[in-house]
Amino acid sequence: MLRVVCASANPHKVAEIFELIGGTLDLVARPTDLIETKETELTLVGNARLKAVAVCQATGLPALADDTGLEVDALNGAPGVLTARFAGVNATDAENRSKLLDELKDKPRSARFRTIALLLFADGREIVAQGVCEGSIATSQRGERGFGYDAVFIPSLGNGRTFAEMSIEEKHLLSHRGLAFRSLAKSLKELPTA
Ligand code: IMP
Repeated sequence: MLRVVCASANPHKVAEIFELIGGTLDLVARPTDLIETKETELTLVGNARLKAVAVCQATGLPALADDTGLEVDALNGAPGVLTARFAGVNATDAENRSKLLDELKDKPRSARFRTIALLLFADGREIVAQGVCEGSIATSQRGERGFGYDAVFIPSLGNGRTFAEMSIEEKHLLSHRGLAFRSLAKSLKELPTA
């Protein structure tokens, strides 16, 4: 199996990524002494690439990075690339969820999560995959599981439940990250040199 370093420093995302693609790649954790990459690009692909390049350069191994944005139609696609910083630079997940519920009072609630998964090889080749999960924003927080915006995001195919009300297996079947990493795994299997 191809040995790849997981570029994410977010423990929730790392757990999901290992579950989703650990059977396809020999995935190892990001070195703990590596400083976190600042997400300064204007696109999800750009930020995923920044994170992958930093890890690939530090380790000499291929790196797997992802970046996710929540796109809310009533906010013209925001917060998008700024999803982690919606309520401010150091905002907590709880602050981000509260701000979103406040901003959507009396507004249409359609939204989607988009994930870019990017595998960068040391020679500069890369595989980029995307996963999109359509859904809507709940009127209040529901569920105890998950992280980030899970308690306020209702995927269209989830029988009205938020991601935070689903088992992790159910979330993986429907989620942006599940779709992106399954697509990446498929592309990887089609690579002649992998
Ligand atoms: P990033 O991919 O780590 O940059 O994530 C951007 C923002 O989206 C952060 O606020 C995350 O908490 C949130 N986020 C990413 N993935 C998920 C998810 O699967 N569910 C809910 N929130 C998420």
